[in-house]
Amino acid sequence: MSRQRAAALVAAVLTGAGLLTAAATSQAGAAAVPGARAAAACDNGYVALTYDDGPNPATTQSLLTALRNAGARATFFNTGQRVQQNPGLAQAQVAAGHWVANHSWSHPHLTQMSAAQITQELSSTQSAIQSATGVTPRLFRPPYGETNGTLQSVEAQLGLREVIWSVDSQDWNGASTSQIVAAANTLQAGGVILMHDAYQTTISAVPQIVSNLAARGLCPGMISPSTGRAVAPDGSGNPGTPTTPPPSGGACTATYAETQRWGDRFNGQVTVRAGSTAITSWTSIVRLTGGQRVSATWNGTPSWDSSGTVMTMRPNGNGNLSPGASTSFGFTVMANGTWNAPTVTCSTP
Ligand code: ZN
Repeated sequence: MSRQRAAALVAAVLTGAGLLTAAATSQAGAAAVPGARAAAACDNGYVALTYDDGPNPATTQSLLTALRNAGARATFFNTGQRVQQNPGLAQAQVAAGHWVANHSWSHPHLTQMSAAQITQELSSTQSAIQSATGVTPRLFRPPYGETNGTLQSVEAQLGLREVIWSVDSQDWNGASTSQIVAAANTLQAGGVILMHDAYQTTISAVPQIVSNLAARGLCPGMISPSTGRAVAPDGSGNPGTPTTPPPSGGACTATYAETQRWGDRFNGQVTVRAGSTAITSWTSIVRLTGGQRVSATWNGTPSWDSSGTVMTMRPNGNGNLSPGASTSFGFTVMANGTWNAPTVTCSTP
């Protein structure tokens, strides 16, 4: 088997395993919107579904079921108080592959509190979520979206990224299921929608939200702790959480996420993750399209083919990764008019 053919095979296997859910929902979306051209799965990027104010004994289980049936992952901004009261539901969120995040202890108006009081609200919630789920949150959403400099300095001290939202579903304000779906239809790549783990209308909206996103080539993703924007899931948000398994026989997986964009270029990040066995080295191939050219790289040693559009990245130093562990490299792409995400693959010697 040629090297190119081997790489293509790895790519095909990765696509088959990693994007199975997205492909399935894409078909559902095409069926649900007659006449709509089915965009390729996730081609247009990622958005984040977020659910605040739980866990809630009246709604969390049903919401998790709806998300599982739709093949979607979401971020839960839990309050510490409710996690303490319902630790099993917080565990269930993580076990189902969702991301858990901090939404204060008691849902107060934090902008009216002192730095010491804010610290208490946030750090006690970090502890409650950590002890219930084993996950230390890296994202924080202030209640009511109210923020100020005092709050932001406490967030920084605790290593938390503040996440507000780009779309408000208005589910808290009595929006109907169809109104919640309509709000989600306005999400753009990278965007974040505010919903709540509290209403049946919100739960009922899940299937249509996910299929409409798929019809637009968008997929539910995770919120990047470094940018606060929705990106491809890479498993880093929830250490220890089960994530998309690597393909059988595959020793590593590569996941691409765009981390920043300017008028003429964008930064990409590739996360290389070991499968269920340790690896001692890896090679990741990044394929550009159109007139794209890489102008800078970091955290890896690159080489190029003669066309300048296929970059082979190898680790700086040794490439040891223990089972399930990951590492990342990054690069800047001059778009030259083509904004498609590069395709990435990973292989081991
Ligand atoms: Zn809230």
